[in-house]
Amino acid sequence: METLEARAVRVRREASDAHKEERNAMSLSQLARSIKESATLKLNETAAVLREKGEPVIHLGGGEPKSKAPVDAIINCAALLNTGEIRYTAPDGIPALKKAIVRYTEEHYKKIVSAHNVIASGGAKQALMVLLHAILDPKEEVIFPAPYWVSYPEMVKLAGGVPVPVTAEDGSFCPTVKEITDVVSSYTKAIILNSPNNPSGVMYSKDFVQEMVEFCEKKSIYLIMDDIYNRLVFDGKTAPVCYEFTRMPLEQSKLVVINGVSKMYAMTGFRIGWAIANQALIEAMATIQSQQTSGPSAPAQWAAVGALNGVQSSIESLRVTLENNRTVMMDRLKAFDGVRVHPPDGTFYCFPDFSAYMKDSQKLSNLLLDKVRVVTVPGKEFGFEGHLRLSYCGTIRDITEGLDRIKWALDPHSANELYLGDRKLVREWL
Ligand code: PMP
Repeated sequence: METLEARAVRVRREASDAHKEERNAMSLSQLARSIKESATLKLNETAAVLREKGEPVIHLGGGEPKSKAPVDAIINCAALLNTGEIRYTAPDGIPALKKAIVRYTEEHYKKIVSAHNVIASGGAKQALMVLLHAILDPKEEVIFPAPYWVSYPEMVKLAGGVPVPVTAEDGSFCPTVKEITDVVSSYTKAIILNSPNNPSGVMYSKDFVQEMVEFCEKKSIYLIMDDIYNRLVFDGKTAPVCYEFTRMPLEQSKLVVINGVSKMYAMTGFRIGWAIANQALIEAMATIQSQQTSGPSAPAQWAAVGALNGVQSSIESLRVTLENNRTVMMDRLKAFDGVRVHPPDGTFYCFPDFSAYMKDSQKLSNLLLDKVRVVTVPGKEFGFEGHLRLSYCGTIRDITEGLDRIKWALDPHSANELYLGDRKLVREWL
């Protein structure tokens, strides 16, 4: 029976919720109300708040390497800051950065492009966003395989389009070419491929990329290659290069390559990414970007020039560290009876199937944060229930202790108690 006091609280809360809804309905756009907050960024915030309170949080949800930015990036950035003259730049990037990206593309993609084919943006995220704004008309569709990066559906919606995720029938992390081409319709404007993939770490095969390039060229559909992790690949493999399979000159091609300094140089906070495409598309993107942000910040652009033109050894050392961390994480995951995991080919994520323990990934992720203070990202956010995205870009200690805590929380056969610092936990929820 509800007490009078409880009833008063409930009525007040309901009135306030109704008021909030009404206010939202009146003053926020439909678009604003339809876009979801980035789950991964929100979890970063939650972890930071808990840490501030002194909680022993282990963050296996993160999407950034812990290494430092290359020294050449810092020197170049500091040199500009020291002049005290930090000005607007060309909205599509300073010539020195475009030149460095042209050279990078020649070296790593074996593709000759000119500065007209390059736009530098505030992260790969903005490059993708201005690209979608430049190509999508209302209700046009963008296809991408599931699991997918959390931002694709929301970005497509922001640009007025309709996201169309495709899930493999066999439960694997890569749908077949047929499964993808089967959903292509007259509304399809673009297909996005992210390989190696966030969240699964899977790298799509050379044959798959080749067939997708050929199909998109035949159908005149934009093919967007999100290559942000393509240097962070393991086991002696290398990422297939889309340009190998194109038969069209770049100026007639609808192939767009997205990349950036965030992941390979551990420069997430600088916010520099880029796109390579035909000149007409780049010009349209530059016009949009010029009205949106006037282009990326000048110190960040100079830092990116330093990273791209400087000593490159930090990429290999990050790659080797991640490969080692990946192996440690795989070994630990094998200790779980019910967990199935596909060893990642690259990135700093893996995407184990925890459905044997709990089908609802949101509930599972909440339980792990709540009970044992481990941050994980629910698979649901990537279009794949029952899974969790775990990152291994932290320390080996984070990985081993994080997985030990998860195992303790889920496995009824493990010891009854666990110590978090000097706090004794008793598993009462199984
Ligand atoms: N694409 C994918 C697949 C990503 O995972 C991310 C970052 N999480 C980005 C693009 C955006 O990277 P940036 O920091 O350059 O905006």
